[in-house]
Amino acid sequence: MSEKRSTLDKVMEVSLRRGLVFPTAEIYGGFAGVYDFGPVGSFLRENLINFWLQYFVKTEIDPPVYLLSGGTVLPFEVLKASGHVDHFVDPIVSCSSPECKTEFRADHLIEDATGQFVEGLDEQELTRIIRENNIRCPNCDSELADVTIFNLMLATKVGAGKGTVAYMRPETAQIMFLDFKRTAISMRAKLPFGIAQVGSSYRNEISPRKGLIRLREFEQMEIEMFVDPATLNEQPNFDEIKNVKLRLLTREGQEKEPQEILEITADESVKQNILPNQYFAYYLAKETVFYTRCGIPRDKFRFRHMKPEETPHYSGGNWDLEIELPRGENSQIVEIVGNAYRQAYDLGNHAKHSGEDLSIETENGENIIAHVVEPSFGVDRSTHCILEHCFREKGVDRDWTWFQFPNVIAPISVQVYPLMRKDGMPEKARDIYVKLKKDAGFNAIYDQAGSIGRRYARADEIGCPYCLTIDYTTLEDDSVTIRDRDSMKQIRVPLSKLVDILRQLLEENIKFAEAGQPV
Ligand code: AMP
Repeated sequence: MSEKRSTLDKVMEVSLRRGLVFPTAEIYGGFAGVYDFGPVGSFLRENLINFWLQYFVKTEIDPPVYLLSGGTVLPFEVLKASGHVDHFVDPIVSCSSPECKTEFRADHLIEDATGQFVEGLDEQELTRIIRENNIRCPNCDSELADVTIFNLMLATKVGAGKGTVAYMRPETAQIMFLDFKRTAISMRAKLPFGIAQVGSSYRNEISPRKGLIRLREFEQMEIEMFVDPATLNEQPNFDEIKNVKLRLLTREGQEKEPQEILEITADESVKQNILPNQYFAYYLAKETVFYTRCGIPRDKFRFRHMKPEETPHYSGGNWDLEIELPRGENSQIVEIVGNAYRQAYDLGNHAKHSGEDLSIETENGENIIAHVVEPSFGVDRSTHCILEHCFREKGVDRDWTWFQFPNVIAPISVQVYPLMRKDGMPEKARDIYVKLKKDAGFNAIYDQAGSIGRRYARADEIGCPYCLTIDYTTLEDDSVTIRDRDSMKQIRVPLSKLVDILRQLLEENIKFAEAGQPV
């Protein structure tokens, strides 16, 4: 059988082999929907989170964005008030054959079988569509049972004996609402201000798939931006991003065949009332810049306006950032950021259920419930999309597969090699490696095994942008060669300037060809 493996399969194979991603509990056969990041992947994940923190949190001055790190187990009352106990559900359908009994997401199954979009329909309607279209179990072709509703939260018990019901949080966001008042008081914050959080969330997904797209434990990076609704079109930094061009898939654009993307500046999108307000458009613009810098080609993502049946009743607008994965004919679209204008829903609800006053005084001395604009990013889905988009096939410009990670997220920045294992080269190389890692703080790897070509290939495979070689010339004049991953060219630089040059290269302040003598 001629095997044409998909990009996903190839990426997962390299990821496993080279320490990017491992299945959790692999020696016990794995555990669906949970993954470990390996020694290389952990740095990729850490760099992505740090870049996000830098760009969306730490450099935001007016309005400020405060960082929280909250509990991951929440009491029943919180998730009842937030609506998750009653509404955070998926329709599920199982195979009626006792040998098979496989469970499926009913809406996905129908969409796959008929092409019909059925999100938001209730269990009776979904059962009817399954019967009408004679949709059968994709595994064994048996009849399917009736559709039922399944809550996606992972429930647990806390306390001894019978204990009380609690839930692993299904999103990080609730913490920001629960701590809204404490944050405002402790930071003496006035509207507008944001609260951000990076941390784990849990959802008992019905059918987790290969890769990091649909997990049962995953990491989110979320911001709740709290705003006086009277000032939603006065985002103080809007001028900085107003000319960023957004790729919008409006509801009308989704109806066209083929679908039509609207390219429009952030400024115009608000002026033409396409996006709900400046705060909302601000985040869409920043997401555009952020993901482009993470290596996702701009033409491979767009913001899709959720259809009415996908939009919660309290929402003032939901637009998902969706990325097209490079799967050839079977290209797949994945949502990696949910953007929502949640208005006063969350604080209002928690105030009602807890009895706490969650209002805040505006500049005019009025007490109001703040409105919320929320961008909700997935770390694992983002990582997955970056892996697939930065993946380069074997046989195009080199004889091995490689990752073209942008420097800002590359898990390993530099590798250090002695040309040969003799004449003092390993000692010299090790000395440089220790200095780069310990004193300069680079994520570095030392490698002396095999030919230099093989070592370059291994570095490329984990997307390391620069490799240093210590050779006979180094011993004579204290200079080293730097090899550039993308161009595969080399330059020679003096050791005395090495740290500075590497830093400039990694920050993309200088061009490689101009950073030293060509070799
Ligand atoms: P949502 O609250 O469903 O809009 O999710 C916000 C973001 O969290 C999504 O855009 C994803 O990036 C991420 N996310 C949600 N569910 C999962 C999951 N099961 N596995 C991995 N990431 C997820």
